[in-house]
Parts: sequence; C-alpha cells; structure tokens
Amino acid sequence: MKCYDCPRACGVDRDGGETGYCGGGRYARVAKAIDDFDYEEPCLGRVTAVFFGGCALGCSYCQNKKISRACVGDEYDGISLARLFDSAPHPLDLVTPSHFLTAIEKGLALCRTEPSVIYNTSGYETPAAVQRASAFTDVFLTDFKYADGQAAEKLSRAPDYPSVATAALVKMREAVSDEWETVGGKRLLKRGLIVRHLVLPDLVKNSVEALDTIAREVGTDVVLSLMSQFTPNGDGEPDRPLNKIEYKIVAEHALKLGFKNGYFQQFSSAKAEFTPKF
Ligand code: SF4
Repeated sequence: MKCYDCPRACGVDRDGGETGYCGGGRYARVAKAIDDFDYEEPCLGRVTAVFFGGCALGCSYCQNKKISRACVGDEYDGISLARLFDSAPHPLDLVTPSHFLTAIEKGLALCRTEPSVIYNTSGYETPAAVQRASAFTDVFLTDFKYADGQAAEKLSRAPDYPSVATAALVKMREAVSDEWETVGGKRLLKRGLIVRHLVLPDLVKNSVEALDTIAREVGTDVVLSLMSQFTPNGDGEPDRPLNKIEYKIVAEHALKLGFKNGYFQQFSSAKAEFTPKF
C-alpha cells in the first residue's frame, strides 16, 4: 500500500521496501523508550516516552537530530510494539509518531491493555491522520511552529506548514475536549490538547503570528506551552541562542492575547542540558 500518512504524500510502497521523506519503512523504528519521564508541562504527570526514529518534518534545528535525521532504532513489528506499549508503567507518550501511524495502529490493536496515549507531534499532520490518531489518543501534545511559510520552508522544508498545521490543530481541538483530574494534589490533564510553541531566534514576528493563529483558531483557553529552550544543534539553523528580549516580547504578546492556561519557561531552559540524550 502506498504511503500518504503525512502531508509529504510521498506515495511510496513502504511494505514493498521503499522509503519516503521520513525514512520509515514497513515497521516502526523505536530509537529509545524511557519508562519514567517528565516534561516541561507538569499537567502531563509522569509518562513513558517512546521516541521513534526518523521524522516527517525534519527541522534544521532539531534537538533530536541523532535519531530524527536518519530513521534509526530497532524495528518493531505489531506484536513487539504491543508488548512495548503493554509494559508502559505510565501514560504512553508517542514522540514523533506521525510517520509510523499505521504501525502504531497495528501495535495498539494487539495490546492486552488499553494504554492512555499522548500523541506528541510536530503538528505537521493531515486531517485524515488526526482523525485516525484521535481514535486512540487521550492528549494531543502538538507543536505549532510557524505562521510564516518562508520560515517553514527555510527551516523545515515545509512551506505549507502554516495552513497544514492550522487545519490539524482545529481538528485536534474538535476531537478532544479538556478533562482534568487531581491526583496527589496535582492537577493533571487526563484528556485534551496542549499546544507548544518554541520561540526561535530572529523569528519573533513568526511567533507573534503563531500565537495569533492559535488564539483565533482554538481560543485562549487552550493549554499553551511557550518554550524558550531553543539551543543551536551545531550544524543547523538558527545558529545562535535565543535572546531574553525575544522571548519576553512573545510572552507579553501571549498575555495580551489572553492565554490563561499553560506555561512560560524559565529563560535558563535555553541550555544544552535540556536536550535529550540519545
Ligand atoms: S509518512 Fe513518510 S513515506 Fe509516508 S508520506 Fe509521510 S514522509 Fe512519505
């Protein structure tokens, strides 16, 4: 079957041994699984993170470039993926899952348990993929990276990112309403949507317009995570750290728009120590 699982729409026969833009073949590739992991957003609680190799977006500044640029990791067929999912002690956090959507569906169908699933995506998704993912997803944890198509083209080779990710975001919002629970005094998002935006150097206008888009399309009640942790990855662009003033301008714009749920990051997060090790 030809693959159209993401907006790249390569149409390659992955079951027949071909690979497309993402590098993914017939089986999922898991680069790393971490049983007990926590995120910048405390409302997610502890998660079991499954990092997939390869990526359908491919950003120049990717912090996980060791596993995303080449589709690295062990191959997991449906049964082995189901075993991995069944063994998760916490909600399952599927990191960069888009190009393995078909394999994930097969794995989940073979699970003995019904894991809670966080679909942790770049936001570069087709409406059809969001629809499929919503059948098993409890929390969509999505990036909204660009409102500026030129920046999206230059940094992620995806000039259509703004329109594609906006449609995906709206679809995610339609698919899940926020449901909260309190566990051990902590307020956790049991089901719902979290939108992440990473502020990039020299792209304050892009960030301001991205926030405008999020506010307009899904409202300012959405859980927003405004991230300052950009770190140059050594060979990509942008190649300089974020300035405090750049983050401040964007954070003030978020407040002006009226976002009231979510997180700002300490500016000290813009250090390499926050980059996952693979
Ligand atoms: S998932 Fe991979 S092979 Fe399929 S359309 Fe996207 S980039 Fe191409």
